[in-house]
Amino acid sequence: MDCRLVEKHLCAYVDAELEPSAALEIEQHLASCSACADDNTFLRALKGELHEQLAAPAPAPGHLRLRVSEALAQVHVIEEDERQPSHLWMTVAAMAASVLLVLGSVLGTDAGRVETAALAPALDMVRDVVDRHKDELPTEINTQLPEQATSWFRDKIGFQVRSVDFNEPSVHFLGARVSQIGNHQAAKLYYSVGDSRLTLVMFKPNASLAQALSSDAGLTRLGAHHALVGGHNVTYQTLQGYTVPIVQQNGIVYAFAGDLDQKSLLRLVANARIPY
Ligand SMILES: [Zn+2]
Repeated sequence: MDCRLVEKHLCAYVDAELEPSAALEIEQHLASCSACADDNTFLRALKGELHEQLAAPAPAPGHLRLRVSEALAQVHVIEEDERQPSHLWMTVAAMAASVLLVLGSVLGTDAGRVETAALAPALDMVRDVVDRHKDELPTEINTQLPEQATSWFRDKIGFQVRSVDFNEPSVHFLGARVSQIGNHQAAKLYYSVGDSRLTLVMFKPNASLAQALSSDAGLTRLGAHHALVGGHNVTYQTLQGYTVPIVQQNGIVYAFAGDLDQKSLLRLVANARIPY
């Protein structure tokens, strides 16, 4: 077993969730590799610390424990390239950030709480985004220049539409149309990525939806996932086999759906520049 494989399964090993034979292989590696042994020691200490903080002073309520463990389980590390020294640290940082966010929103003031009423619209939103991608309605404006499309939207939609800069030569802008997400007027932007189609839907969410999407507890209840891609945290939802990364910036929701594989899509979104 090599370091990369150990690193991948170290969390499960520390949580004693591995098959005995796999655990044994990791133990053998740890006995002979000081780098991985250090990671192991650190991860154990961190988990122990989190556990203590959750247990004290009063035992955390069951639903909180559940949410925290869900948040921990949902931090996936997508980067599978060569092992980098900072790799585990990024995992740990993301993990700790999720836990703190969840704790903050659950234990914090009422402002951090998510109204259950907002969750159904949020789930509907994800389904709508997938539907908009699948509907294959033609573009209303056909142009390879995003600026032409964004100025075309100016008198058609109640917020300023801006294109996203994907920083990737394989992505081509194709055009746009006015669309709808729930009761929200939306802009639908069409892109191609190689042979795949990519849809970007953007809209201005109402207050309760905005809150559900901006709180980690809300996202966790939505079953949202967090991926760490090249050092960027991407939040996404999966539905009907589609991965739907969701970014909220300056009061506008940017949601993506595409035919490309999950890893490529998350990488694109992680590296995209969303305008202010
Ligand atoms: Zn090692």
